[in-house]
Amino acid sequence: MNGTMSINKQGHLEIGGCDVVELAQKYGTPLYIFDEETVINNAKAYLAGLAELENYEVIYASKAFLTLGMCKLIEALGLSIDVVSGGELYVALQAGFPVNRIYFHGNNKSISELQMAIDVGVGRIVVDNFYELETLAEIAANKRRQVNILLRLNPGVEADTHSYIQTGQPDSKFGFSIGNGDAERSVDLADGFEYINLKGIHCHIGSQIFDISSYKVAINVMMDFILNYKSKGITLSELNLGGGLGIRYTKADQPVPIPEFTKFLVSSVKEAAEQRNLEIPRIMIEPGRSIVGEAGTTVYQIGAIKDIPGIRTYASVDGGMTDNPRVALYQAQYHGIVANKADQPAEKTYTIAGKCCESSDKLIENIELPQLEPGDLLAVLSTGAYNYSMASNYNSLPRPAIVTVYRGESKLMVERETYADLIRLHRIPKRWQAGI
Ligand SMILES: *Cc1c(COP(=O)(O)O)cnc(C)c1O
Repeated sequence: MNGTMSINKQGHLEIGGCDVVELAQKYGTPLYIFDEETVINNAKAYLAGLAELENYEVIYASKAFLTLGMCKLIEALGLSIDVVSGGELYVALQAGFPVNRIYFHGNNKSISELQMAIDVGVGRIVVDNFYELETLAEIAANKRRQVNILLRLNPGVEADTHSYIQTGQPDSKFGFSIGNGDAERSVDLADGFEYINLKGIHCHIGSQIFDISSYKVAINVMMDFILNYKSKGITLSELNLGGGLGIRYTKADQPVPIPEFTKFLVSSVKEAAEQRNLEIPRIMIEPGRSIVGEAGTTVYQIGAIKDIPGIRTYASVDGGMTDNPRVALYQAQYHGIVANKADQPAEKTYTIAGKCCESSDKLIENIELPQLEPGDLLAVLSTGAYNYSMASNYNSLPRPAIVTVYRGESKLMVERETYADLIRLHRIPKRWQAGI
């Protein structure tokens, strides 16, 4: 069980002091439940963990989960935010997020996105490639506006969930490679532009990372880079180490707790600076999944149950790859609890399928659960990151509502889409209206 989960006297699953069965009755299913306390605890753990550095910033990677309310919560907690598109920037601005605490990422920012970022005055633009750097310099010069940037570098360290590899020539669409001289050329180029203020460098080595030693390898590569430029008279005073810490989806996952991770980062950075006789740069990190992933639970109602003797039993739910595309996309694994039978022992193996017209639309393969009946409520855990933000309307399924729970109180965070929402943008070309 995650975060504030418990089982109450009725044998129901509770999250944030709210009975999940009651939440399903009140708000309908499928329903995303957002456990506010877990997000608060995670954010505070990151801030406390880095506090020893004095000059640091925790930036929430909003692509994991972004709503107006989430922006407010993130702001109140003292985190900054990163966005990867004009749309995400718009959401943050609409929520009134302090613009100087917004970081703008992306490997193919459009001209209008760059103009928007400059016009509103985002804190940093994280420049990804030469085309962007030159375009940005030109726009900034035309507007006579100074723009603060970081350069996204590819340190040649790629972290996988359980391992990492160091590659001289990484094959990635993101960033300037250190291995082939692109990174050096990008600094030299940026340094020459009148309206570009090069503040520092950024890297992001992967996601759902369990082997945190990969961060130390990346820190050393990045600090070597900073040292190299110091000797050339260019100060790179900010080092953004990206996100990527893993979370627990199933019992097989053993993520590194946030305090342990930040402690490791702090000691690695201090050691690297000491070894090179460098000042410690301003350290930024950009967690997404590890802030919000375990705070999310999706509750579905079980419908059809199909037993194929000797093969498997399918139990289908009223959502699926539309609200959680991660299983079909990259075989992500999840754990589930029957919310109305949370105190009952597992008796039977099920495969949980979605309701979309796709055989790959499964949520969990081979999970042991109490005997299921239509109408039971299945809570799928750790759906807070990259679920709502990746959700679609495939098969014209309306996107679920999101409800936030905190100490026994529930409040709507995002309304459930209606059928009318599905056709809001549809237009029938005039010539077809009278018949073709
Ligand atoms: C996706 C992303 C993050 C967040 O990654 P998580 O694995 O969710 O922590 C941070 N920084 C950048 C640049 C990203 O693209």
